[in-house]
Amino acid sequence: MSANSSLNRDLEQTTPIYDITPFSALDFPDHLSAIIWFAGCNMRCDYCYNSDIVFSKGQKSLTYVLNFLKTRRGMLEGVVLSGGEATQFDGLVEFAQDISALGFKIKLDTNGTNPDMIKALLDKGLLDYCALDYKAPKEKFYEITKNRNFDAFEKSLSLLIESEIEFEVRTTVHRGLLDESDINLITKDLEAKSYKGIYYIQNFVEDVKTIGGISNPEQSLERSKIESSVEISYR
Ligand code: SF4
Repeated sequence: MSANSSLNRDLEQTTPIYDITPFSALDFPDHLSAIIWFAGCNMRCDYCYNSDIVFSKGQKSLTYVLNFLKTRRGMLEGVVLSGGEATQFDGLVEFAQDISALGFKIKLDTNGTNPDMIKALLDKGLLDYCALDYKAPKEKFYEITKNRNFDAFEKSLSLLIESEIEFEVRTTVHRGLLDESDINLITKDLEAKSYKGIYYIQNFVEDVKTIGGISNPEQSLERSKIESSVEISYR
């Protein structure tokens, strides 16, 4: 690693990365990007189709990723930190500093359960965009994610709302797990917190094996029953 790197020897020797998607025109709004998939996640969403990543211990080093990115300067504009859950990796700030020093913008995909890491990234000006999953209203958060840390998620949401960066809130909906009243609780909460962006609702589509082994729901969300003054976009 170069003398200018933020990585210490311990970080250089870790292999927290599951894999790299070398090119994407879809994952970072208005930017051609590479996606870095962090191994491991602190949630177990039934509809998750990334089980290989969630249960992986990682196989690629940060140095491997940075060397790859050096070959993409001038071709790609951004890097997406995704997973799994990237904020579970303790060296994320140092890694993001090295990515930023190579001239790439950074997008973070997160479930929001590590507000301290999000704050550290924001404080150092390392995030250009963030996509925050609003998994479920508080009452259903554990049922959907098998994680009890709704309060941490809420803190991340507030941090991002208070920040200057562009970010989006999104929910994956499997109608057997979440219904219209759940979505209305989420939109009310977003309104109460003065969220000004677009709220993205993405429908669960069964195309690969999921963690919970669930199949397509019998019903889909009835959009006419959704109440929101926050702008909604369906994906
Ligand atoms: S869908 Fe859930 S389990 Fe899968 S990576 Fe995202 S937060 Fe983790």
